[in-house]
Amino acid sequence: MLRRRYLIRDEKGRVVETPERMLQRVARAMAGAEEISGGSAEARIWEKRFLSALSQGLFLPNSPTLMNAGRPLGQLSACFVLPVEDSLEGIFETVKQAAIIHKTGGGTGFDFSGLRPAGDQVASTGGISSGPVSFMQVFDTATEAIKQGGVRRGANMGILHVSHPDIELFIRAKTELDLFSNFNLSVMVTDEFMQKVRADRDWDLINPRNGSRVRKLKARGLFELMVESAHGAGEPGLVFFDALNRGNPTPALGRFNATNPCGEQPLLPYESCNLASLVLPRFVKGKQINYPALEEAAGLVVRFLDNALEVNRFPLPQVKKATRLTRKVGLGVMGFADLLIALNIPYESSRAAQVAQKVMKAINSAAREMSRDLARQRGSFPAFAKSVFPAQGETRMRNATVTTLAPTGALSLLMGCSAGIEPLFALSHKRRMLDDQLVNEVNPAFKARLAELGLDTLQNQKALAQSGLAASIAGLPFKDREVFKSAHEITAQGHMAIQRAFQLYTDNAVSKTVNLPARAPVKEVWQVFEQAHAMGLKGITVFRHGSRGRQVLELASLP
Ligand code: UDP
Repeated sequence: MLRRRYLIRDEKGRVVETPERMLQRVARAMAGAEEISGGSAEARIWEKRFLSALSQGLFLPNSPTLMNAGRPLGQLSACFVLPVEDSLEGIFETVKQAAIIHKTGGGTGFDFSGLRPAGDQVASTGGISSGPVSFMQVFDTATEAIKQGGVRRGANMGILHVSHPDIELFIRAKTELDLFSNFNLSVMVTDEFMQKVRADRDWDLINPRNGSRVRKLKARGLFELMVESAHGAGEPGLVFFDALNRGNPTPALGRFNATNPCGEQPLLPYESCNLASLVLPRFVKGKQINYPALEEAAGLVVRFLDNALEVNRFPLPQVKKATRLTRKVGLGVMGFADLLIALNIPYESSRAAQVAQKVMKAINSAAREMSRDLARQRGSFPAFAKSVFPAQGETRMRNATVTTLAPTGALSLLMGCSAGIEPLFALSHKRRMLDDQLVNEVNPAFKARLAELGLDTLQNQKALAQSGLAASIAGLPFKDREVFKSAHEITAQGHMAIQRAFQLYTDNAVSKTVNLPARAPVKEVWQVFEQAHAMGLKGITVFRHGSRGRQVLELASLP
């Protein structure tokens, strides 16, 4: 995968870069920003530090940085949000902007709630509008055509507010109507809506063009539609408007109405964000987490990401302006499940949630500390005075946000660790390569443990290849069965407890899928959605085992 996607090729398509050279290229490009304040000697020192951390596999920046740093394209961000105006010119302008971003490997999120509903009037032509779902197909087709030069698929997040008159069509679009192959869908849900669901009240659908009520329906009926669709095909996800906006560091600049494709990064229109992820298993010493090393790395990566904001070639002038105003960066983690296994802690346990909180708290504080330091040297982000920080007693901050938990789909494959904060998907699974070949992979920690116990027999290997579950190994001690549980054996509550633990110390949002067993009833999804809201999560995505759905990300994460 490294060869296919990341390393430089010549004009004949031959790979002309080694992985080491790639890391050098990235470290040098990011250290380049140090020249501005510290001169070339300073830049060389930071280049060495960045390279050392990258070479030890302590962290990786998001894919566009690996692909584009130090190269003519130079676009480094994974996440963008673009505004969509309620006019034909506006819509097609955004299609064009999205195309430009996809070409550079970025993913785009859109709030389509400002578009007048299907069947509404169009003044200039006297005709009728085709509505957001119809226009989203234009975005989808454009994305399909670009395919990011064959390197990285264009990923989109389509968001519609729960009060939009076309919301039912939107919810059904992917599951029943089979529309969109390049979109994740999320409904923007408000606290008010959730209250009406709980109280079984009516809900108004409002035309965004003039604020008039188009129709009313039962809040529960609409909620049930989302629940059933998510149960059937894992979509839509929900994003919680009020939770997102309670975490908005610059409300004076506008409210969050959209996120990037996988939901972990709420952004204002035209903002972009660079992500990076620490490789948690690399910070285990003996059976302990090496916190000083973790904190030091967190600080270093924030500096790396702030530098990225200086050397980034922004794909659009509006993006440059909005991004430099708040200077958001998103440091997160990958390999959390591997970390727990190394510490012999089951994913579904209160200890795991404690570890999650402690790890993320340490990372977040170290990241903030570095952002303060950088502000001392380089100044606060320009919108600082209008942000929430002065009221919190902060006198300076370089970045409006410092932490985000990305899915790390491709990055975790590169590092050979578990993805983001997800549990192991299976202990052994077949991976479908792009050429459709199936390869079998066994989790290395589990293989080692089996060998240690004298259980790595041919018979057990077969059983494992069939089920993918630790439970299929006869004679495996109970504790090991708990520690090696995979995503579908963990209850929804177990998944959400980890999501919440990380969210508590994450400035932006958390990418997480709550897996459900194939037999999970519809009402379980209902409960999960309600609980997610009550727990203060910023969003929720469920995926029932065996239900349809090749999500954008799953496709994207193929090697
Ligand atoms: N993303 C994208 N296309 C892809 C995969 C990811 O545009 O094929 C964007 C999207 O905004 C997503 C973010 O990158 O939310 C982070 O995804 P992930 O962590 O999986 O990316 P990686 O850096 O591992 O490639």
